[in-house]
Amino acid sequence: MRIVLFGPPGAGKGTQAGLLSEKFNAAHISTGDILREAVAKGTEVGLKAKGYMDRGELVPDHVVIEIAKQKLAEVGKSGFILDGFPRTVPQAEALDKALEELNLPIDAVVSLDVPEEELVRRLSSRRVCAGCSKPAMVGAISTDTESICSACGGELVQRADDKPEAVRNRLRVYQEQTAPVMNYYRDRGLLVQVDATGTVEDVRDRVVDVLSK
Ligand code: AMP
Repeated sequence: MRIVLFGPPGAGKGTQAGLLSEKFNAAHISTGDILREAVAKGTEVGLKAKGYMDRGELVPDHVVIEIAKQKLAEVGKSGFILDGFPRTVPQAEALDKALEELNLPIDAVVSLDVPEEELVRRLSSRRVCAGCSKPAMVGAISTDTESICSACGGELVQRADDKPEAVRNRLRVYQEQTAPVMNYYRDRGLLVQVDATGTVEDVRDRVVDVLSK
């Protein structure tokens, strides 16, 4: 299974990619997670990326393309769920070229569709684990024990780029630079659109349903 999960920030790409990667036994490749890890470790890539990420801007194509290519070559034939890549048309072109060289064509590009006001609500209430970076929704937290990560026990924190100003910027960047990638894949007959409102399980069922078709 080789899938691109596409959608605006807050659409639930990370959550759904995690579920799909377990279900289909495919690698979950999130360029956002790889970049955050690089920032936390203070690597050369991390130092380059940090400012862009904190402002809610895209990291330059050549940096992200290199990261994605390395990961795809590591994963090889075992299948992948790409989460947050490609985010520009040049990235989509570079991905096509890399996958052609590896002889690993994409099966489908799943677009997770959520209205903008719902995205703003989700992003401003999102918390992630400081330890394992898995997402958790603040709305679901009612007791002290639920303010820690259910997967690893780490502390739940707000991402720097989920603060209101960065959120507005990320949504604008999505409209200007990332939304055109949908047409790129629509033209190639790979795009499937899924209503990504409702519960995590509802969305997962809809995604699995379209993929089985
Ligand atoms: P995400 O976790 O996917 O929302 O990504 C967090 C941030 O990492 C984004 O706002 C960008 O600054 C950066 N980033 C992640 N993936 C990409 C990409 N494909 N192209 C450019 N920047 C990216």
